Amino acid sequence: MVHKSSPLRLVPDAAERPASPPAARRLGAVELVPGRVRAAVLSMAGRVLDRTESSYDAATATPADIDRALAAAAGCFAAHELQGIGVAAAGLVDPLTGLILEVNDVPALHGYPVTERLGALTGAGVRVEHRARLQVLGDRWFGAGRGRRTFASVSTGEVLGVGVLYDGEVMAPPGGRSGADMTVSASGERCTCGNRGCWKTLATTGWLRARARAAGLGDAVSLDALVNGGDALAGRVVEEYAHNLALGLVNVQQLFAPGLFILHGEAREGGERFRTVVEERLQNAVAFVGAEQPRVLVGTGAVDDVALLGGAGLVLSHL
Ligand SMILES: [Zn+2]
Repeated sequence: MVHKSSPLRLVPDAAERPASPPAARRLGAVELVPGRVRAAVLSMAGRVLDRTESSYDAATATPADIDRALAAAAGCFAAHELQGIGVAAAGLVDPLTGLILEVNDVPALHGYPVTERLGALTGAGVRVEHRARLQVLGDRWFGAGRGRRTFASVSTGEVLGVGVLYDGEVMAPPGGRSGADMTVSASGERCTCGNRGCWKTLATTGWLRARARAAGLGDAVSLDALVNGGDALAGRVVEEYAHNLALGLVNVQQLFAPGLFILHGEAREGGERFRTVVEERLQNAVAFVGAEQPRVLVGTGAVDDVALLGGAGLVLSHL
């Protein structure tokens, strides 16, 4: 299935296109996650000019199906002169070889040569990185991290992860992950990875829903509903959630002192109180008087665009 997610078609027909001046440089971005491929053309300032989306069946797709979904999404690049394409991919990736090594529940992506395939489709230089780590480059080039050489960008909600820019470089060592499975509780819940007490067992939407249900606050409640319900018990659950999120971030601050944490995703629903709880917890963890006091900002961009902006940032950083 292929469909345009934007009603705008910004590429004019050949007859309408002026013979000169030459096309401006554009940035290409692709987000590849289980079941879906998104692609976008962005201006050098990070404005989305054109986008496409295609889908595939995560469980049953063959590599040829992935090829087709990728080719369909890449259609939006055809009329643009691209500086390069940055791919934000779920799972475990190898940026050096351009391979996706492993994605849970998507057998067809194991060992998938995404940069080679996209390069052949478009003729552009292509680079891939892990989605959660990559978003820090979106913030660095187009968002609240502009002008900084060190800070952290955090995914919250169903998917948890931290990307750290350290002295101008994304920290992305081979085999490194996004932090969702770092242990924050010795006797915590069993995680899908097999270990106990991973950060994601108590700082994702799944935990929030289960906690709210256990507290008698209903099934499938959202953070937004808990924050705005005006209920004291709901307020305590929200506060606990903010503390759980801070648990992982405090470890990141202790190790790398990024100073600035930009939260994306669900945290936006938490409002100012949620942000303040996380920030205060981080500030309490800084013992060194001369160190930068940690600050927490909440990303204001469209949630759907965070990974695409990261891909465009990867182009500006490396291509
Ligand atoms: Zn885990």
